[in-house]
Amino acid sequence: ISQSGLIEFFPHQEKFDDIGGQNNLKDWLNLRKDAFSEEAKRFGIDPPRGVLLLGIQGCGKSLMAKGIAQAWELPLLRLDTGSLYSKFIGETESNVREAIRLAESLAPVVLWIDEIEKAFTAPSGSDADGGVSARLLGTFLSWMQEKKAPVFVVATANNISLLPPELLRKGRFDEIFFVDLPETQERAEIFRLHLQRRKRDPAAFNLQALATAAEGFSGAEIEQGIVSALYSAFSGRRKLTTDDILQELKGTRPLSLTMKEKID
Ligand code: ATP
Repeated sequence: ISQSGLIEFFPHQEKFDDIGGQNNLKDWLNLRKDAFSEEAKRFGIDPPRGVLLLGIQGCGKSLMAKGIAQAWELPLLRLDTGSLYSKFIGETESNVREAIRLAESLAPVVLWIDEIEKAFTAPSGSDADGGVSARLLGTFLSWMQEKKAPVFVVATANNISLLPPELLRKGRFDEIFFVDLPETQERAEIFRLHLQRRKRDPAAFNLQALATAAEGFSGAEIEQGIVSALYSAFSGRRKLTTDDILQELKGTRPLSLTMKEKID
């Protein structure tokens, strides 16, 4: 919807109920559901500015950005950080100004900035002279503090080490959440959700055994385990069983384990 293609409407179906775990974050968001209303304003509530969701990939950060828009009944806009930097001098900054203007004109709205860590590092081949990234960060931070319209920013990041420290200071985002690997009970819930989505009765599966076997797995890896098991069952035209999924989990090495080994 923006001329530069930097910002787009993001149609989606995902609801909070489709997300396993992350109850603290859900509670925090549920409490602010009507924070953009006239009634909240009269009550003395300033519209919330945004949240920063940090964490390893596949744990549901993107899912949460979509869930927030759905839960708050607001349109979701996605800012494409990949097309932020232009090779033409001055265009990067004008792109960002245009994106901000557009988001404000559509407010109240949720603006999802995916991989925000990439927004403040200029890629080679762009017009960036080093100063461009710094100016972009300055523009973004002052906008976060002085928005003219209620645009709730959901910024997601995988790589914390690339984030400028200014972004993490108090007063930029309302809250920073670490979206961690799911605990055992959360894993059981994620298995239940994804089995249900594929029209299986979760009661026919041993969710506890699955959750225990999937220690260290992200939500995305759990989903992948179910999908692979479905293929095996389908190729033999068999009914999908707990054992099929356990078999797939056994043959999968979760990313968190590989990362842990690298650190050790
Ligand atoms: P990335 O940084 O790679 O984009 P992410 O943290 O944003 O990762 P998602 O893209 O939200 O992760 O997750 C990918 C998919 O994995 C989701 O679409 C969903 O199907 C599944 N998934 C991940 N976490 C959960 C969860 N907590 N509950 C249910 N499904 C999940």
